[in-house]
Amino acid sequence: MSITSNYQNLRKEIPDHVTIVLAGKTKSSKEIREAIEAGATDLGENYVQEAETIKQQLGEKVNAVRWHMIGHLQKNKINKALPIFDVIQTVDSLKKARDIDKRVEKAGKNVIPVLIEINIGNEDSKSGLKPEELEPFEEYMDKFVSDVSELRHLKVEGIMTMGPRFGNPENSRLYFRRTRKIFEKIRKDIHLPAVNMKYLSMGMSNSYKVAIEEGSNMVRLGTIVFGKRTYQ
Ligand SMILES: *Cc1c(COP(=O)(O)O)cnc(C)c1O
Repeated sequence: MSITSNYQNLRKEIPDHVTIVLAGKTKSSKEIREAIEAGATDLGENYVQEAETIKQQLGEKVNAVRWHMIGHLQKNKINKALPIFDVIQTVDSLKKARDIDKRVEKAGKNVIPVLIEINIGNEDSKSGLKPEELEPFEEYMDKFVSDVSELRHLKVEGIMTMGPRFGNPENSRLYFRRTRKIFEKIRKDIHLPAVNMKYLSMGMSNSYKVAIEEGSNMVRLGTIVFGKRTYQ
């Protein structure tokens, strides 16, 4: 199986309303170029430096796709990240939102679309807003989204979650369902110009089917398209 056929088969299998963001971490620009030529529309990267290198190597192909920051964004990388990415999926505190907001204009942009990252499993090893620590979470999220929307240079476009990783994707179902409920509640409650709840980003290679059944409209896929990752 090749990257081209893996991607094209998935694109046929996954409903049209679901955006596929390819997770490119550790993959070479040659592999990513193949994915773009196969029709990929959205690329996700976890590290600012890695994304910059890949984009430089891609040449003109780089403008054919939207670039998503899907990794933890450190404060000292925001300046560098802003020109590289079209969307930041990992806003997980008001402080981070403000730190980004302050730097958008300097990066030559007016607005950057963001997703709010929720750590739906309350896992210490992962970033994202933790429901257990922010009770009552549904109310907290409404407030959080409206606070972020007051920042002039951010636009809230949805929710992202990693969800706990299980061998059996069925075990993720209830976490995805809860994330979807939070997403729908914000969509129902918050009507502000800088909030447009379009994307529910959840589901990875092992769990995307369950995530889509539970309402995801944006999946982030690495392994199933590119094959196993080898870390150096
Ligand atoms: C690596 C990664 C993915 C994709 O994981 P796979 O299991 O390889 O599909 C999705 N989201 C994030 C945030 C990632 O870091």
